[in-house]
Amino acid sequence: MSEFDQYNTNQIVEDDKNHFLHPWQYFDSFKEEGALPIAKAEGAYIYDTDGNKMLDAIGGMWCTNIGLGREDMVEAIADQVRQMAYANPMVDMTNIPAGQLAKKLAELAPGDLNHVFLSCGGSTAVDTAFRLIHFYQNCRGLHDKKHIIARKEAYHGSTYAAMSIGGKKADHVKEFDYITDTIHHISTPYYYRAPEGLSEEEYTDTLIKEFEDKIEELGGAGKVAAFFAEPIMGSGGVIVPPKGYIQRMWETCKANDILYVSDEVVTAFGRVGHWFASEDVFAIQPDIITSAKGLTSGYQPLGATIFSDGIWDVIAASGKGRYFAHGFTYSGHPVACRAALKNIEIIEDEKILEHVREVGPYFQQELEKLVDLPIVGEVRGKNFMICIENVANKQTKELFAEELDIGRWITDEAAKRGVLVRPIGHLNVLSPPIILTKEQVDHIVSTLRESIEAVMLDLEKQGLW
Ligand code: PMP
Repeated sequence: MSEFDQYNTNQIVEDDKNHFLHPWQYFDSFKEEGALPIAKAEGAYIYDTDGNKMLDAIGGMWCTNIGLGREDMVEAIADQVRQMAYANPMVDMTNIPAGQLAKKLAELAPGDLNHVFLSCGGSTAVDTAFRLIHFYQNCRGLHDKKHIIARKEAYHGSTYAAMSIGGKKADHVKEFDYITDTIHHISTPYYYRAPEGLSEEEYTDTLIKEFEDKIEELGGAGKVAAFFAEPIMGSGGVIVPPKGYIQRMWETCKANDILYVSDEVVTAFGRVGHWFASEDVFAIQPDIITSAKGLTSGYQPLGATIFSDGIWDVIAASGKGRYFAHGFTYSGHPVACRAALKNIEIIEDEKILEHVREVGPYFQQELEKLVDLPIVGEVRGKNFMICIENVANKQTKELFAEELDIGRWITDEAAKRGVLVRPIGHLNVLSPPIILTKEQVDHIVSTLRESIEAVMLDLEKQGLW
């Protein structure tokens, strides 16, 4: 008897279909197909309720960094639950793991980012940054300095504010209302689709100019509070910015007294080989870093908004009776914080950042070989954060018809072969657990090659390409 015999997959799918509104659910196709129920996870592998084993090259949702099913994580979490599963974090109460984690994050974060607000995930970390920025500017008496500039195709989360800061066209669906009076979007730094003939540096020049023009258009630096950016854009298609872009955007912010918010929900905690990408990859010291996901490797929901002494000094200056009216029942949740502390300890003890810096470039280099396939336009990213851009024509970079759903098609072929990759429109994104071995890398790459070849064959057979 298999351990999976206990599950009635049809019933699970039916119950789910009837009662669980999923994030990003497509109502029509979901009604037909339902969801794939996952029952078990071990390292980089997941098992559905029928016992089918798959290599999860999505890493949950860019988050299962150290791999799932670790007994040491189970022990730490169970121990904390036994001792104290919850404590009130409000005003003047705390718990041991929350304080310890805040101190640890201050040590790991760049420069003078010594203060931490703990929330429930990436969206609430971004929402907290947004509110902290307004609070800070108001404390300074700069009541008109409120505009936010972000980028098109950025993803910053799903609260009302975070979604408005995000600029993904596909997410700005008409049935929702977004904040548009104080949140503005400038171009995606997308060199693959930049105007022909520009060097990376020249392209960066145009993007910086656009940022400066936007500041002017909004009434000058006195009106602009902050700039939000992922160091490498994740859900927008793993967009690695052109040379000099991040540095120069940061310098422009500094020159204009605009806070730089680096959204490291995906890039922190090892995905690109460092605790944080801002300083170690792009040599900047943001004013605020938002993080989540790899902070606990998905074992518990947790978000952190890490901010500078400069912001702290302003907000904490004793305006009599001033207080920070923002917080969650589960801010600094002891079990989540304990999971984060253990996760960080494991990354340190097992030298996982060093592992990423060794195996990550191999993953990237092997995947880059897929560009010899006629429909792979570009493979880009860094270490364990990679995107494959599929195109109908490599010269013109023309896309396949949207209804072919080419990313989903390739994903389905790979899933049949036991590897999970994520489709985003015409793209396939990979963000596996960062403990991946070279053998697992080879398996993912050869499976993807076979899957893309199978799709090409079908396209040809059906006269679609
Ligand atoms: N910021 C970025 C860059 C993200 O990729 C995400 C999630 N994919 C979020 C914020 C939101 O995080 P969460 O889903 O944990 O709320």
